[in-house]
Amino acid sequence: MNVCGANYPLTAKQRELIELAESLGPAFAARAERYDREASFPRENYAELRTAGLLGLCVPEKFDGRGADLRTYSIVSATLGKYCGATALTFNMHACSMLWPGALADDLDMTSAQRAEHEKHRAIHFARVVKDGAIYAQPFSEGSAAAAGRAPFGTTATRVEGGWRINGKKIFASLAGAAHYYGVLCTEAKPELSMRDTLYMAVPGDAPGLSVVGDWDPLGMRATVSRNLVFKDVLVPDEAQMMPRGVYFQAASRWPHMFTTLAPTYMGIAIAAYEFAVKYLRGEVEGMPPVKRRMYPTKQVAVAEMWIKLEQTRALFLRMLEDARVDPPKEARLRAYAAQYTIMENANAICALAIRTCGGQSMLKSLPLERLYRDSRCGALMLPWTAELCLDRIGREALYEPGETDD
Ligand SMILES: Cc1cc2nc3c(=O)[nH]c(=O)nc-3n(C[C@H](O)[C@H](O)[C@H](O)COP(=O)(O)OP(=O)(O)OC[C@H]3O[C@@H](n4cnc5c(N)ncnc54)[C@H](O)[C@@H]3O)c2cc1C
Repeated sequence: MNVCGANYPLTAKQRELIELAESLGPAFAARAERYDREASFPRENYAELRTAGLLGLCVPEKFDGRGADLRTYSIVSATLGKYCGATALTFNMHACSMLWPGALADDLDMTSAQRAEHEKHRAIHFARVVKDGAIYAQPFSEGSAAAAGRAPFGTTATRVEGGWRINGKKIFASLAGAAHYYGVLCTEAKPELSMRDTLYMAVPGDAPGLSVVGDWDPLGMRATVSRNLVFKDVLVPDEAQMMPRGVYFQAASRWPHMFTTLAPTYMGIAIAAYEFAVKYLRGEVEGMPPVKRRMYPTKQVAVAEMWIKLEQTRALFLRMLEDARVDPPKEARLRAYAAQYTIMENANAICALAIRTCGGQSMLKSLPLERLYRDSRCGALMLPWTAELCLDRIGREALYEPGETDD
C-alpha cells in the first residue's frame, strides 16, 4: 500500500523516490528480525541507501543531493518504516541533519555575514554525505528538560581559537558507534546558559575525547543502537557548526514541523501492521499453513476498526504535511501536535489490535507483528513532542496567546 493512499497527488520526483524506497524495502524487511534480535545497527541497509543515493535525500539539489523538502522526506521515510522501523527512525536522524541546515535554514532570517558563513559550512557537511557517503546522527537528549525545549542543553561549547571545545553527555544517541558525525545540540558557555545560545555542532565519530558508553537492550527500536555519548574537551573547528549561532533557536520557534519528522516512521509501522493482519486473516502469510480466519464477524469488525484508525491517522498525517512551512498559523501548529499525537498513539493501538485479532500464533518471533508492536511503543516517548507534551502544548497554546498570563 502506498503510504499516501492510491491516487494521492504526488509530484514526479515524489513518485520516483517512493519507488526507490519501495525497491529497497523487501531486503530491509528480510533483515529486520536479525538486527532486532542482535540489537545491532542495520549496516547493510545503510550500504544500500548509500548506493541508491538516498543518503543525500534532503541535501539541496544545488549541492548535488535529491532536494527533498519536509513533505517529500516524510513520505519516503514512511515508506521505509513499512519495512524496518529502526532503519526508518535512524534514517530520520541522518536525513533531518541535512534538511534543517538545508531547506529549512533557507526560510530563516540571517544577516548576510551569517548566510555566507552558513553557505560555506553546510557545503562541507553536504559534500561529506553526497561524495563520501557519511552518516550523521542527532543526539539531543540529555535526560533533563532540555530535549523537551524547556531548558538550555547542559552540554556546552566554549569558544577557542578557530573553533569550539565541547563538554557534556547525551543519552539515547541513535546510530551510536555507526555515525560518522554526531550533530550535537549544545549551549554556548557563558556565565548564564540560555536556550537562545543553542549551537548545533557536527562532531566526528572518531574525535579525541568522544566516547560511546553504556549498553543497549531496550523493548523496541532495538536496531537504532541508541547508546550514550560522553564529550570530554572535544575540539571541533568552526565549520562544525551546522547552523550559525542563534539560528537553531529561531528554527525551533518558527518551523515547528521540524519536530514532526519522527512520526512518518510510525505511520509506516501502522500500515505494515494493518497489511499483515489482512494477509494473516486471509491465510496468505508465507511460511504459515493457509488457514483462513476472515469468515468470523468479530475479525471483520476488528479489521474495520483498524482501517478506520489507519485512515484517520493518514488523513491527519497528509494534512499536517500540507501545512508544513515557516511561521505557520496557530491552527496549523496545533494540528501538527494533534497529528504527531495521533500517529504515535494510533500506530501502537493498531499493532495491539492486530495481535489481538490475529491471535497467539501471530505474536511469535518468527513473524514481524510482535516487533512492529514493540517498535510502535517507542513513538509516544520521543522528545520534544512526546504524546504527553503534545497534549500539554495543545491545551496551553489553545487557551493562551503567546505572552498571555492570568495576572
Ligand atoms: C528508540 C529511541 C531512539 C531515540 N533516539 C534518539 C536520538 O537519536 N536522539 C535524541 O536526542 N534522543 C533520542 N531518543 C530519546 C527520546 O527523544 C527522549 O529523550 C527519551 O525517550 C526521554 O527519556 P527520559 O526517560 O529521559 O524522559 P524524561 O525526560 O524523564 O521524560 C519522561 C516523560 O515526561 C514528559 N516530560 C518530559 N519533560 C517534560 C516537561 N518539561 N514538561 C512536561 N512533561 C515532560 C514526557 O512525556 C516524557 O516522555 C530516543 C528514544 C528512543 C526510545
